[in-house]
Order: sequence, then C-alpha cells, then structure tokens
Amino acid sequence: MNTAPTAISDDDGPKTGHDFIREIVRRDLGEGRVKSVVTRFPPEPNGYLHIGHAKSICLNFGIAGEFGGRCHLRFDDTNPSKEEQEYIDAIKADVRWLGFDWGEHLYYASDYFEQIYEWAEQLINTGNAYVDDLSADEMREYRGTLTEPGRESPFRNRSVEQNLDLFRSMRAGEFPDGHCVLRAKVDMASGNINLRDPTLYRIQHAAHPRTGTAWCIYPTYDFAHGQSDAIEGITHSICTLEFEDHRPLYDWFIENLPVPSRPHQYEFARLNLTDVVLSKRKLIELVTGGTVTGWDDPRMPTISGLRRRGIPATAIRAFCEAIGVSKANSIVEMSYFDHFVREHLNAHAQRRMAVLKPLKLVIENYPEGTSEELDAVNNPADPDTGTRKVPFGRELYVEQEDFMEVPVKGFFRLSPGKEVRLRYAYFVTCTSVVKDAQGNVIELRCTYDPQTRGGDSLDGRKVKATLHWASAAHAHRAEVRLYDYAGIEAEPEIVTDALIEPALSQTPVGECVQFERLGYFCRDNDTNGAGSLVFNRTIGLRDTAKTKA
Ligand code: ATP
Ligand code: MG
Repeated sequence: MNTAPTAISDDDGPKTGHDFIREIVRRDLGEGRVKSVVTRFPPEPNGYLHIGHAKSICLNFGIAGEFGGRCHLRFDDTNPSKEEQEYIDAIKADVRWLGFDWGEHLYYASDYFEQIYEWAEQLINTGNAYVDDLSADEMREYRGTLTEPGRESPFRNRSVEQNLDLFRSMRAGEFPDGHCVLRAKVDMASGNINLRDPTLYRIQHAAHPRTGTAWCIYPTYDFAHGQSDAIEGITHSICTLEFEDHRPLYDWFIENLPVPSRPHQYEFARLNLTDVVLSKRKLIELVTGGTVTGWDDPRMPTISGLRRRGIPATAIRAFCEAIGVSKANSIVEMSYFDHFVREHLNAHAQRRMAVLKPLKLVIENYPEGTSEELDAVNNPADPDTGTRKVPFGRELYVEQEDFMEVPVKGFFRLSPGKEVRLRYAYFVTCTSVVKDAQGNVIELRCTYDPQTRGGDSLDGRKVKATLHWASAAHAHRAEVRLYDYAGIEAEPEIVTDALIEPALSQTPVGECVQFERLGYFCRDNDTNGAGSLVFNRTIGLRDTAKTKA
C-alpha cells in the first residue's frame, strides 16, 4: 500500500526543495552572507552506508547542486580501532552509485591531524586545555549528571608548561592507551554535559588506515569535526539532531582557535523506517555474528544490500526527496519507500517470464519435435524497448498455483475443461491430468487453438486468465531467493528449480526485471552449486495479494 509517511510535520514548510535548511541557504546567499554554498557528507569509515545515510547524502549533495555550490566527501577517520580501508572504498562506491560526485573534493579528517594537533597545543597555551590522568571510570563519575553539576579534576590546574610537556609525551608514545587524555577546560558546572571539559585527544596505539603508525594519539570526533569543516570552508554544516547539544562546544572551539572560516551547524531529523535497523553498531553485529552473509546481503538496509536486491538508485533519491527534511523526529512507513521502488521499476524494468514452481503442460495437438518463436513485449510502459523472441513448443511449464483440479469459486485459471491464454502465445484448454502414485497432479494435458497465435482469438472469444509459462526444451534453470522485509533475521525462501525463459540468461548482474505476474527480480552475482543463475526478489508487484485470476 502506498501510505504517506506518518509523522512528517509541515512545520518547516512544504517538503521538496523548500525545507528549512534550503530556506536558510537561500537567505544566506540572498543576503550575501555566503558567496557560494559548500556542504559536506562526513561519514565515519566504521561500517557501510545505509538508507539513513542516503537521506544525508541527498540533502548535502542536493543542496550543493541546486544552489550552484559544491559538496565534499570527507571521511571522519579519527578512531582507527574501528575504521578500515574496506569501509572507505565501499562508502565511495555507494555515494557514486547513488548518483553523486564530489569531484576533486575528497578529504579525510586525518589530512588535518597536524593542524588539529597544533590547535590543541594552542588551547593548552591559552589555558584552555589540560592533560588529565583520571581513569575513564573516574572521569565519568566526575562528570556529574543531567541534574547535578560535575566536579573539577584534581589535574585541571596543571601549568601550561606541564600540560605541554605531557601532551608532547602523549604524542611521542611514552604512555600506554588510556593513561591520560587531553581535555578542554570549559565548565564542569555547565548545564550542557558536552561542555564539561570534553576530551580532545586520547591515546590509541593503533595503526590508522591512512596515517599508519605516524600517530598514537587521535583527536575525538568532537574536536576534529568542526575544525575540519572550518579548514574546508564549509558554509552549512548539516548534521542530525543528536548533535544539537554539541553545537555550543563546536562554537567554543571556533571562538578559541584561529580557524580560517566559521561554519554554521544546522540539525535535521534522522530518517527512521518502520521495522528497519539503522544503527551501524547493530548492523555490524549482524555481519560479524553471521546472521547475514555480509554487508551487501539483500536483507540489509545498507546501500550495497539494497543495490544487490535490485532497488534502483533513482528510487532511493526520489524517496529521500519526498520525505523531505524537518526538525521533527518521525518514523516513515516502509511501504512508502516501496512505493518509489515500484514506481521506478514499473517504468524501467523489462518484462520476462519465469516459472517458480513448475507444473508440466503438454499440448497434445501441437506437432511433436517442432517449436516456434513468439514476440513478447519488453516493457509496455516503454515502447522504445521493443520486443524479444520467446521460444514455444509442445511441452511447457506453468505455475503450479495456476492450476486447480477442482476450482474454488472465483478461480479462473487452469482446471480441467477450462481455456486460458498463455501470454504472447495461444489459448489452451486443459483436457486431462496425469497423477503420480500419491495422487498429485504432475502433468496437464491440453489442446491449443492455432488460430489464437500471439494470444488473441479471431472469433472474439474471451478467456478470463492469462498465464506465464516456459518452454521445457528451451528454459534455463535458476535459483530464486525470495526476500521479504519480514525481519532481517529470517532466512529467505529459496527456490532452486525455477524455469526461466532463455532471454533471462542474458540479463546482466545487478539488473532488475519484472517476472510477469510475480514481481521484480534482480540478477545476482552468485551462481549456485549447480551452476544455475541466481535472482533475488526485489519486491512483489503492487497487487500481489490479489493477483488477477
Ligand atoms: P555512528 O553512530 O557510528 O556515528 P552514524 O550513522 O552517525 O553512526 P556517520 O558515519 O557518522 O554514522 O554518519 C554520516 C552522516 O550521516 C552523519 O552526518 C549523520 O548525521 C548522517 N546520518 C546517519 N544516520 C542517519 C539517518 N538515519 N538519517 C539521516 N542522516 C543520517
Ligand atoms: Mg556519527
């Protein structure tokens, strides 16, 4: 069902292109406060991107594009214990696949380590930072709570010389991990916990994907982020709401350091989707715990998982545009996302025929040992895609579900005595069935009307059902993985002996097609043990629940 998102508020004005952030940008440009807008997407390379990140990517790159500015891709790589080159590469590939281009503006917070270090010394020199020997537990205890002020560390009033000396020793590798940290000297009684002498540097004897072992102290995200923005001349530093309370700290840094520009931070509500895990920490657990096969498992809400599942980038972008940007947290219905996926696939996916649960059908009056090729439409929504040939013969397969020996009321598909249309082919009538020893129907015997070639009767005779089919002599075998949004932990239902029309063997990996009457399916890069082609179900047809009889 296509339901509108439940709680997108209109407080911030109409959605597409007119959200409160774009209003700010428009105003800043109009009033000449900024000459050219510069935004950035700042992922931490500690996991793969997910659909929530797509919202931020579309917003940052979108604004830069719409207002003639530029958007940087900057890796916030300040925590080497969790960051890997694999993630950097995957993030770049995903942003590109989504359709965005950072041009030459690829940056890393680690590019600025030396500058950020100098600024830390400067804070020490101006009495605004100190080295603290409290343990992590003690620091937590001294920090206070939301209702009680914190207490000052006994190390807070070390001299500038002592602090400089200790900080240089930290950098020189003279202390083990966790031995001490550099903290800003702000206000332990502040109502904002972020201002209670936050940590600026910690010791981490860990190799960094880019700087190797050059450093054993690393700036915190909070200390690196705003200064990186300032170095790059970011005009609109857009982030999610949880950083609203960090803004006073970022502003404090900017005021106390000779940074080359002054970024302004604006916060928006992150994307939440019903029943979808969008926490990197939990997604990592699914990968490392083996619940999924990898970051690109088609069940994952990661960009790479969605891509492998067959979700088009244009659908993700259209969705992100439609949900808009606001300051009110909300949860968007997954069905709203599905709507954009179907809309795009319906317009662009080629139609093909595949039989997932085959039942043999023999046309008794079709000449033995012969076959023919029939024309099939590639996409009725896009005549430019033309037609293809589909082989037809005496022995075919149809879907088990399309036959009922004793039809229930309202079942108009095949049953003994019933005539139906085989798509793009002929009208056939079921004359009898063949059963196995257990009484299961294993074969349908039929006759066809040669006058109905192409699927139309000359005498105006009507049938109530049109079935998809595959020619026994020509079909290829395929494995089809039926994914569902019903819980990421659920194993997909796997059909190993689907029969697909020959053209499907030419479908490129990553391309999504419509299996007529069944849904949208994407060719996977896997082949199963038997060498079969593998297709993943992207999404069902809109009306799967009430498929035409
Ligand atoms: P972590 O908790 O590991 O920091 P993160 O999801 O915030 O996870 P980042 O790599 O820091 O990961 O995210 C990059 C950018 O994407 C940030 O600016 C962040 O605000 C934004 N972002 C992350 N999740 C969402 C979301 N669900 N909706 C919108 N933007 C998001
Ligand atoms: Mg983050």
